[in-house]
Amino acid sequence: MHYEVTGAGKLREACGVCGGFAENQPLAFLTCFALYALQHRGQESAGIVAGPGDGRKLWIKRSMGLVSDVFPDSADLKGIVCKLAVGHVRYAYGSDGRDPENTQPLKLRYRHGELAIAHNGHLLNAIELRAELEKEGAIFQTDTDSELLAHMVARQGSESLEEALAQVVPRLKGAYAFVITDGKKVVGLRDGFGFRPLSLAALEGEGYYLASETCAFDTIGATFIRDLEPGEMIVLDENGIHSSQVVNGKCENLCIFEYVYLARPDSNMKGVNVHLARREMGRRLAREHPVDADIVSGVPDSSIAAASGYAEQAGLPYEMALVKNRYIGRTFIKPTQKMREEGVDLKLNAVNKIVDGKRVVLVDDSIVRGTTSLKLIRIMRRAGATEVHLRISSPPVIGSCYYGIDTPDREDLIAYNRSIDEIARLTGADSIGYLSMEELIASLDLPADKLCRACFSGDYPILPA
Ligand code: SF4
Repeated sequence: MHYEVTGAGKLREACGVCGGFAENQPLAFLTCFALYALQHRGQESAGIVAGPGDGRKLWIKRSMGLVSDVFPDSADLKGIVCKLAVGHVRYAYGSDGRDPENTQPLKLRYRHGELAIAHNGHLLNAIELRAELEKEGAIFQTDTDSELLAHMVARQGSESLEEALAQVVPRLKGAYAFVITDGKKVVGLRDGFGFRPLSLAALEGEGYYLASETCAFDTIGATFIRDLEPGEMIVLDENGIHSSQVVNGKCENLCIFEYVYLARPDSNMKGVNVHLARREMGRRLAREHPVDADIVSGVPDSSIAAASGYAEQAGLPYEMALVKNRYIGRTFIKPTQKMREEGVDLKLNAVNKIVDGKRVVLVDDSIVRGTTSLKLIRIMRRAGATEVHLRISSPPVIGSCYYGIDTPDREDLIAYNRSIDEIARLTGADSIGYLSMEELIASLDLPADKLCRACFSGDYPILPA
């Protein structure tokens, strides 16, 4: 069977959000640096909204590109007088995903003034809610869930943003972490299942800050306080922090893929450091799937921690067998037809002198379509590896994600309806070993029922209608 070398090889994140309120802080400037820390969650567009905190006009800058493209002179942001700011980095997916109109934060006017919304996640009932509003005459300018929420908020008779949100949020079904401002306060919201992360920190001196990942707090010198609870709304304003439960917090279902691949290694989620968790996954993987080999190597960057854990447990040398070129963008054209056909990956290259004549254990965090694994094994063999044993620090991905992570249809997942032997044959590996779900959960030392594992188990906490 011919196995095609096309398509994305990883699950991808779908946005990072942040924002805060403080009296005497350069919040727009700090938000720019928080966005730099969250850049791995989305590279399609970036944006910041900032305001003086009294409801007067909000300043906004947003555009397609990396944070450094959109804010090339971040020092200029120091001059923006503001008490609040909201930031967003976007990972676009879907047919209209790359439309510049969908850049966030989304800013619009309603009867109480201005509203700006940044969103991470995916609403399962967005189509129905949108159709309902369109029937009533609403006109949408974007495809975002943020605009949908804005329309719903604007239609409420409530006097305050919090009251309006408390009315409309119970109607939202799906995964979301919102950071919103009406120019007077900043509101953070997490869905009732807690799929997507959102944490709270204290800014140095005074004020509070919200972000998708704690690495953003370290970057701006903020001190982590706690993760938001599922269904919790936190309001940051001149009186401090106010918390309320706007939807019933179901059992938390934080995405386990945050630990496997999505989050930055220096972030902590539910008190668990992502790097240490990945190293433990590697150790347990070595115990579950040992193999006679000469060296262990990880696929840069997200699998290096797991590979080092594997090597340590197996008593094998950890070697840097693959080098990543960080300067090739997401879209590039391979120079020759042969390279295109063979799926040569210009982003990764083997270190021949390390690999030549060796039996290699190659550790990766996950296999999605299998295309990346196929390329990597070809690269290793071309470099002279005598055996390549693939070890994966998570279970087989057998289902799509409905909660805001970009995944192929399940028919395009290499592990869907295939045995381990078939996967090994299709990728060209001498052997494959996946970390079991039990060992993955044991690596995190968290209760299994607090984590979404649906793309591994097929057991979805909620399904689209
Ligand atoms: S289905 Fe998978 S990727 Fe999606 S939230 Fe659950 S664990 Fe994360």
